[in-house]
Amino acid sequence: MNGTFLIRTFGCQMNEHDSERIGGMLRADGMTPTDDVADARVIVLNTCAIRENADNKLYGNLGHLKPLKAEHPDLRIVVAGCLAQKDQGVIQQKAPWVDVVVGTHALPHLLDLLRRAEADGPQMDVAEYTDLFPSALPSARDDAFRAWVSIAVGCDNACTFCIVPFVRGAQRSRAIGDVLAEIQGLVREGVVEVTLLGQNVNTYGRDVTIPGSSRRPLFADLLRQVNDVEGLRRIRFTSPHPHDFTPDVIGAMAESDKVCEHIHFPLQSGSDRVLKAMQRSYRRERYLGWLDAIRDAIPAIAVSTDIIVGFPGETEEDFADTLDVVSRARFDSAYTFQYSPRPATRAASMPDQVSKEVVQERFDRLVALQQEISLEKAREQVGTEVEVLVEGAGPRRSSTQARTRTNRIVHLAERLDPGAFVTARITDAAAHHLTGEVVPAPASV
Ligand code: SF4
Repeated sequence: MNGTFLIRTFGCQMNEHDSERIGGMLRADGMTPTDDVADARVIVLNTCAIRENADNKLYGNLGHLKPLKAEHPDLRIVVAGCLAQKDQGVIQQKAPWVDVVVGTHALPHLLDLLRRAEADGPQMDVAEYTDLFPSALPSARDDAFRAWVSIAVGCDNACTFCIVPFVRGAQRSRAIGDVLAEIQGLVREGVVEVTLLGQNVNTYGRDVTIPGSSRRPLFADLLRQVNDVEGLRRIRFTSPHPHDFTPDVIGAMAESDKVCEHIHFPLQSGSDRVLKAMQRSYRRERYLGWLDAIRDAIPAIAVSTDIIVGFPGETEEDFADTLDVVSRARFDSAYTFQYSPRPATRAASMPDQVSKEVVQERFDRLVALQQEISLEKAREQVGTEVEVLVEGAGPRRSSTQARTRTNRIVHLAERLDPGAFVTARITDAAAHHLTGEVVPAPASV
């Protein structure tokens, strides 16, 4: 293929990772990226299926592309990602101007599908290949100094609200050697921070064995071995599942100096009755127990979480339990969602779906409580001096956005180069970002 391409990415980090691979393949095939939709020869919509409006977003975007396709018949439109895997042939029925539908397991076949679409018209590949890992594909990363590294795809859990197991399949872990080789290669390219990606990182290795041994690699093993990679400065990971949390992971986090003091620890609900209906297989006191154990081992750790409001059957008492856990857990930040039924998930057909008005009212109360806690916790940072990694331009042209090891955004007045490590004294705090000034690094840094 020649010409230009444009990729629109929806949803989670896993999709951002896959979009870097799509860009890598198209560049390796001689194409160049563009931000101008009218100038693109190939447009890829890398879709998410997690929330109701995800469908609307896709078909809305495809509606906008129809006249462009009529004007430029050689334009190729690709739908990839979780909605491609969920809706499959329905997409080309609803939007026959789509040239390629490629599922989450078939990404390595994209170039071949595009060539076939050039010659024979619309193509689709949504087969569940189990031997292909997008991580094996060339990557076009947005940042030169940090990278997503997929350690596993798919999930073996069956949370009743979640569509991921249907669209990403069962968990498949990458061989530990492949992950380490990729990270060593990234460090040679100048990467200083990696984020290990998986739907459920702490069950990594459950489905593979270590070469020459019957033992299965554990996530704790992986963390320690990644920590030994020369030249790497920071390690992050997302997402662990509270049910599969084990003391060895906490030990590996505490003893690995490059593992950043931040954990994303999805709660989803504070009500044991709702957690049971969600099939989250842990209960609130166990969750809080894990949180205490993590904070005992790593006192400086920042904790973010996911919470769903309005799960079918959620009563005011259940919601009060959620508010209670939020007050006790004192998360540094939380992604809060209004429940939306996803086709094929068990929760979608559960009785007692909660009305939008009630969900909205509860959602507003939860956000207000968490906002208060986030601000109080952010204010505790004022006056501290912390190492930050420069990410790029800040809100004002002349300023800089950087990030602490605890995953807090820091705005700095001066303009600094992305990828640089500096020490910042925190001078002010808002709920979702800090303000700081660059100070000389302490002698040890
Ligand atoms: S752990 Fe649950 S919520 Fe997370 S991806 Fe798996 S099924 Fe979905």
